[in-house]
Amino acid sequence: MKTIIEPFRIKVVEPIRMTTRDERERLLREASYNVFLLRAKDVLIDLLTDSGTGAMSAEQWAGIMRADESYAGAVSFYRFKEQLTSMTGFEYVLPTHQGRASERLLFELIGGEGKVVPNNTHFDTTRANIEHSGAEAVDLQIPEAKDPRNRHPFKGNIDIAALEDLIKRVGPERIPAVMVTVTNNSGGGQPVSMANLRETRAICDKYKLRFILDACRFAENAWFIKQREPGQTERSIREIVREMFDLVDGATISAKKDGIVNIGGVLLIRDESLFQDASNLLILTEGYVTYGGLAGRDLEAMAQGFEEVLEEDYLQYRIRSIEYLGERLINAGVQIVEPTGGHAVYVDAKSFCPHIPPEQFPGQAVVCGLYREGGIRAVEIGSVMFGGHGRPNPAMELVRLTIPRRVYTQSHLDYVIEATIELYTRRESLRGLRILDEPKALRHFTARFEEL
Ligand SMILES: *Cc1c(COP(=O)(O)O)cnc(C)c1O
Repeated sequence: MKTIIEPFRIKVVEPIRMTTRDERERLLREASYNVFLLRAKDVLIDLLTDSGTGAMSAEQWAGIMRADESYAGAVSFYRFKEQLTSMTGFEYVLPTHQGRASERLLFELIGGEGKVVPNNTHFDTTRANIEHSGAEAVDLQIPEAKDPRNRHPFKGNIDIAALEDLIKRVGPERIPAVMVTVTNNSGGGQPVSMANLRETRAICDKYKLRFILDACRFAENAWFIKQREPGQTERSIREIVREMFDLVDGATISAKKDGIVNIGGVLLIRDESLFQDASNLLILTEGYVTYGGLAGRDLEAMAQGFEEVLEEDYLQYRIRSIEYLGERLINAGVQIVEPTGGHAVYVDAKSFCPHIPPEQFPGQAVVCGLYREGGIRAVEIGSVMFGGHGRPNPAMELVRLTIPRRVYTQSHLDYVIEATIELYTRRESLRGLRILDEPKALRHFTARFEEL
């Protein structure tokens, strides 16, 4: 069969509410044209993020009921640890409440003044935790990643030559770790090839450096390796995932992505003494080492989620549904970041509304347009998010349509496609915006706008 279906049937449903165009016009005005300030109940299709928004399976919910809530040594902790160890080969596994808690523990221990941490592209919380420790975070994505039309199959790759130049320039003693993020979230959800991970390992061996994976979307990355990389198609997802983890000395994971849970994270460490230090810090601020600031039920749900995410039917449906959304938009003339990545479609707002200059936030105009048109909530990734306070506007003005895991069906995506194309045909009517007030940092969450 050619048709790829959702590999599940629906047992529990959650109603979503249609609104009228007049209602949405009023709600958008009341939210000061910032969709973060809307109430979720007023959103029909919520594509703000794929973080913690996935639908859990019957087995995950059953695990929640079965869970052991003992303070120390709970059965649920051992189930979680055994799942992580068998999947990644790591013996030292710490649960944390989410990805940024893993980052904070790690960089409090290995970061600090004068240190430099390279990555393909640091996710914003990773960068913030590195900078908070006093270290510098450097992004080294390959040049192809900056061109939305370039169809390089592994646009998430780290630039190996630039990495070696950086190591020579600052000196290996100042680099506590080289990081690679799979898939590269901030770079369009683009995958990293196994060849690139192996080359990074070789550079780290040459200069005796630690290699840390930001592994939030490890399973989606493995699927792209299987699909797109020569010599990898015959391997199982489990084998590919295992090699990705075998190549590194540690990993930070937000289980809200490929763990398909609403809350949770993981820190994996190879080195025993670093693991001991991280365990002590975990106890200080998060909780005892066998629960890490979570409930036993969260550990059960993670253990099961990390197993389900390796299923090839699931990954095929997951990645194909993003590709389908992207293909239909491209066919209608809407420029997106090509090829589509793992968890979202990124619409190029510069080409969507060329009449709106970056100072008037073309991405935000498209986000407001999508809510008006269809009650769809997307997120701006452009000069609202990265500009302001003297910073230059970013190279790309993007609107991210992020797809939660196992939540929306193909007809929901067809609706999103129709609304986006409808908006595109009337794109001259989109208006730029002006910021009325904004906080000092992370302004996209709370800034208030008015339409010009
Ligand atoms: C979400 C994410 C994080 C942070 O995880 P949280 O669970 O939100 O704290 C780190 N890195 C990447 C690539 C992410 O997508």
